[in-house]
Amino acid sequence: MTITSEGRTARTSRVDDTDRVPFADCWITEPARRAAARVLASGWVTTGTECADFERELAAAVSAPCAVSVASCTVGIELCLRSLGLPDGTGVLTSTMTFCGAVHAIEHAGLVPVLVDVDPVTGMPTPETVAAARAGRSVGAMVVVHWSGDPADVASLAAAAGLPMARVVEDAAHALGSAWAGAPVGSGEAVCFSFYATKNLPIGEGGMVTLRDPDRADWMRRARLHGMSTDAWRRYLPGGAWRYDVPEAGLKANLTDLQAAIGRAQLQAFDGWQSTRRSLARRYDERLAGIPGLGLPHRPLDVEGRHAWHLYAVRLPVDVPRDAVMEGLKARGVSTSVHFVPVHRLSHYASRQRPDGFPGADAMFARLLSLPLYPRLRTTDVDRVADALADTIEEVAR
Ligand SMILES: *Cc1c(COP(=O)(O)O)cnc(C)c1O
Repeated sequence: MTITSEGRTARTSRVDDTDRVPFADCWITEPARRAAARVLASGWVTTGTECADFERELAAAVSAPCAVSVASCTVGIELCLRSLGLPDGTGVLTSTMTFCGAVHAIEHAGLVPVLVDVDPVTGMPTPETVAAARAGRSVGAMVVVHWSGDPADVASLAAAAGLPMARVVEDAAHALGSAWAGAPVGSGEAVCFSFYATKNLPIGEGGMVTLRDPDRADWMRRARLHGMSTDAWRRYLPGGAWRYDVPEAGLKANLTDLQAAIGRAQLQAFDGWQSTRRSLARRYDERLAGIPGLGLPHRPLDVEGRHAWHLYAVRLPVDVPRDAVMEGLKARGVSTSVHFVPVHRLSHYASRQRPDGFPGADAMFARLLSLPLYPRLRTTDVDRVADALADTIEEVAR
């Protein structure tokens, strides 16, 4: 299955498709397919031992003390916020340059998003934009996104927000494989990963929350499954007791063993995929460097951290119309996308403006374009995309 720039439409198989370069690609490996078949044949398909093993293995991969598998990154963010027990209506800082679902999660937790502008170079809030957003209002928490896989400096953003690290939730939907200051993204207080079809570790759907506090992890294990004190797997184990209590209403947000088995097998391939992403990103850097006015993606210095290269997002030359570029690329067989429409531009958030607007996000958004980047992309595809982009910009600018 491939994902087009429009979203989730299944097209042709990547490996059979030689005449176009799709924007994204969901690669479920042979071992992952076999693992799925094994779970389906086992008679236990929902949350059980595969989920527990996946939690252990992912926690180890990102140096996290605890991990709780969940249905999605979105619901993981909601659970992390709910676990803080903040009063309804408390403000939560979040970047405006993020996926809408990450902001909905704040609302679903009964809290109020407080949108933060970004640095147009990194696509992420700075201590200055965080301080400006929180000025004059009370905020109880902050969601920090590692946009495109470029690691955010979470501690300095928390300091600017005047919040302890325990009140920060990291949206690492793009950042499995990222690191900052020698620590993998995932080793923080509460970090949410996505296994959606286009993400760096695709399952199709699924998520994981890594946590430092074991009590918070225990709370989340109950809260993800109706708030029940013991889950079905434990109740049905030999010698398991059927009795349970429900101390508070939970969500239905568990991962299944079917998904977890796929995720565990995909994790075996992950390091290789990441090194391919890094070398493809370097190839883009080389091939695009000569295009006048084109901005290449920000990345951390080697001594600062590691980029996971979920997205390779360029900034088009000023005044080159993006829609015309995307059309020109499509005519040359190359699909592209835009991440994201800033949240303050979505009609649902019309009431969430700032008096001085979001100049950083607006400036960046006007020029943003995400190019194809995934492990099955070939070096020759990168060259073709780069040539097509150079030709299209020249054509459109004429
Ligand atoms: C994909 C994405 C999410 C949501 O992930 P799901 O697992 O689909 O809920 C959240 N935040 C960002 C930045 C994303 O790109």
